[in-house]
Amino acid sequence: MGLDWDKVREEAAQILSDYIKVDTTNPPGKEMAGVRYLQGILEREGFPTIVLESQPDRGNLICPMKGTDGLSPLILLHHIDVVPAEAEKWMHPPYSGLVVNREIWGRGAQDCKSLGVIELVAFLLLKREGFRPKRDILYMAAADEETGGKWGVGWLFQNHPEMMKAEYVINEGGGVGMIIGKRNVYTCQTAEKGICWLKLTFRGKPGHGSVPHDDNCIEKMARAIERISSYRSPLRRTLTTENFIKGIAEEQNFPRSFLMKQLLYPFFSKSVEKRIPDPGLRGMVGAILRNTFVPTVVQGGQKTNVIPSECSCQVDCRILPGVEPEMIKAEVRNLLFGIKDYEVEILQTSAASESPTDNAFYRILENTLKRLDPKAKMIPAMLSGATDSRFFRSKGTAAYGFQPMAPMDNLSEYLSRVHGHDERISAESLLFGTRVLYEMLKDFCG
Ligand SMILES: [Zn+2]
Repeated sequence: MGLDWDKVREEAAQILSDYIKVDTTNPPGKEMAGVRYLQGILEREGFPTIVLESQPDRGNLICPMKGTDGLSPLILLHHIDVVPAEAEKWMHPPYSGLVVNREIWGRGAQDCKSLGVIELVAFLLLKREGFRPKRDILYMAAADEETGGKWGVGWLFQNHPEMMKAEYVINEGGGVGMIIGKRNVYTCQTAEKGICWLKLTFRGKPGHGSVPHDDNCIEKMARAIERISSYRSPLRRTLTTENFIKGIAEEQNFPRSFLMKQLLYPFFSKSVEKRIPDPGLRGMVGAILRNTFVPTVVQGGQKTNVIPSECSCQVDCRILPGVEPEMIKAEVRNLLFGIKDYEVEILQTSAASESPTDNAFYRILENTLKRLDPKAKMIPAMLSGATDSRFFRSKGTAAYGFQPMAPMDNLSEYLSRVHGHDERISAESLLFGTRVLYEMLKDFCG
């Protein structure tokens, strides 16, 4: 087959560079500028497009490639908005789309305009060769992911549920390749933690600050924060973390391989976790093995010489699949046993989500990677945060974070640039992602 991959690499890099120049910083978002940019490309290639505006200047784009067999669709999803950038701290301006040393620079280069581009180019390549998929493939660009999806995927599900019916979704949050030993290990994001944000309110006896007494709500709160901060919730295995840890452990030499697997056993888990040298990795591993509790907002007291009667602290709690908010409340009460006069309130929750790994679609992702990279191994992964995939999973659609990227040996450095400074992606990664998606779509939908 005569695809000129050098040209494809160049085309993808150019599209991304121009897409980055469209400033879609959220807030305010203004994703319609991004919608129009993508729409222009798609319409030039003869695609019909559907634009769904959720707010002035904010909107979503859907572009269908019609299938022949009426099977439930496959959606290629990404979000148009990006997080703000501290321009003065970047080496190259964040909305320049500059190409330096075969890397495309700018906000959104990693999260996640590059995904939108590889999906788009794979889509265009199929169209140009007259490919007719069996099932509908929908290219979908959504607004507002970075502030929770209220005007993006969340809004689409509320206002256009008929357009959101799908069997599978490809989205952000996975696909990075890590060089581990002799293998290139790629992640496929199959799960995301949920949230259970808490507010703890403590009450006590008011009084004058010059007369200490033992019913000061601030002191109770301080004791509670101390306990919450040093607490490690019990290990909780999920299918995703089990296969993630085992998948990486198998590529290590002894005794590392053995030690790593101990992360999955309650008795050893915490001590092995503490020994992970890279702090970024340690945090990540800790977050996928258990529910986490992080105190973030403290309120109380007005004046130095007044003991207040009430104060509060908010806790950012992240929960694993299968965990209910009531279980978290009970866990907190247990933890704060002995502390009096407080109540726990749930401020906001959203369930964790997980997609299966035992279906034909997941296997095709894996097999395509292996075909294009003989050293490839794919493992499922869990995100400690959330993406738009959660909306789909809650409706029974299997969603996968899968943006295949050229393997790298320093993953933490790459990840630190997501929402950070100097965000960029190599043209090679764009090409690799495009190739994998193109081959995968042909295989799965052909
Ligand atoms: Zn993102």
